[in-house]
Amino acid sequence: MADTGVAVIGAGVVGLAVAARLAPSTEVVILERRARHGQETSSRNSEVIHGGMYYPTGSLKARLCVDGNRRLYELCARHGVPHARVGKIITAMNADELPKLDELLRLGHANGVEMSRLTGEETRALEPHVPSVGALLSPNTGIVSAHALMDCLLHLAREAGALLQPRAEVVGLAREGAQWSLTVREGDEEGSLTAERVVNAAGLEADTIAGLAGIDLDAAGYRQHFWKGSYFSVRSSKAHIVSRLVYPVPGHVSLGVHAVVGLEGRLRFGPDAEYLPDRALDYKVNEGKRAAFAASVRRLVPEIEDDDLEPDMAGIRPKLQGPGQGVRDFVIAEEQSRGLPGLVSLIGIDSPGLTSALSIAEEVAQLLDAK
Ligand SMILES: Cc1cc2nc3c(=O)[nH]c(=O)nc-3n(C[C@H](O)[C@H](O)[C@H](O)COP(=O)(O)OP(=O)(O)OC[C@H]3O[C@@H](n4cnc5c(N)ncnc54)[C@H](O)[C@@H]3O)c2cc1C
Repeated sequence: MADTGVAVIGAGVVGLAVAARLAPSTEVVILERRARHGQETSSRNSEVIHGGMYYPTGSLKARLCVDGNRRLYELCARHGVPHARVGKIITAMNADELPKLDELLRLGHANGVEMSRLTGEETRALEPHVPSVGALLSPNTGIVSAHALMDCLLHLAREAGALLQPRAEVVGLAREGAQWSLTVREGDEEGSLTAERVVNAAGLEADTIAGLAGIDLDAAGYRQHFWKGSYFSVRSSKAHIVSRLVYPVPGHVSLGVHAVVGLEGRLRFGPDAEYLPDRALDYKVNEGKRAAFAASVRRLVPEIEDDDLEPDMAGIRPKLQGPGQGVRDFVIAEEQSRGLPGLVSLIGIDSPGLTSALSIAEEVAQLLDAK
């Protein structure tokens, strides 16, 4: 008999959401390499509850973001997780960008996202400091405290009997008979744990874990690329210069440097997209980026000067897309067809992974139930 029903690898927002979803009906152990839950990507992001207008219709990102948005607001309201439905505008800075806005509006509507088109004048009435020749308004885009959300999910998981094992790094994963054997490093010691099923929610290392299980990463298309995103914050009197999330018309790798209003009244701009070829966990914000950053920021809010910006924080996106490659969807796969029954891989969970976490958990539960 296995030590546990399900071993969840990784206590980020996705692993915690999966644990909270499964624990009422299954024994769950969460293995986390850090001293606490939520120390990596899940606490280093924009904390935006995305609407879901950017992703190809029918993709997992579109479906799970739209569904996850609704589930997340419900959970926050039910459990008192700090959040705010502040709304967002995506603004066109010149007439050339207007067709892209219309395209985005069509895509959003096809994905089931509530959105409307604003004229330049209507946009300036909402955000007087944002130059605009036209914009989209997404009323259901909002912000959430990612830490409070993860605390809440951990509490729900524990209440239902789940166990979180911090400082427990999974370094081996093998199918043995009808169960899984996980080799776990805790400090200088190595031990093992057996589980009937395994959910790989290891974020930046999800491809490494898949590799430990014997999956050929290149053949499967599971190799992740690290894209760092840095933020600068506005600490001057201009911290209240906008009252909504303000985005440009999106670029190819990221949604573009945008204005992120925080629950505590902090205003940040970011993230940019910097490729990390050596996959180093480098979270330092390079001060030397200030001038280039300020130039992008001024396209959105011209009154922001270089001196108004201070280096803030950075996060790293695990993307399936390398430089110059096309945009990829989330991978959520039960690996029976590779001879690995009971292993669920969650690969390339970049944005909108925070928004989608509760729906990803639902998807995982259905995959495991079907087996
Ligand atoms: C700059 C940036 C901005 C973003 N903005 C948004 C946004 O506004 N809205 C949105 O919806 N999404 C956003 N995202 C995406 C979102 O943050 C992620 O999709 C989400 O946090 C992924 O959660 P996760 O649980 O999969 O990963 P993580 O939070 O990385 O959790 C994985 C966990 O696994 C652990 N782990 C790794 N390897 C092992 C191992 N071998 N053994 C044990 N544990 C292990 C790690 O320590 C970590 O705690 C953004 C991401 C970035 C980087």
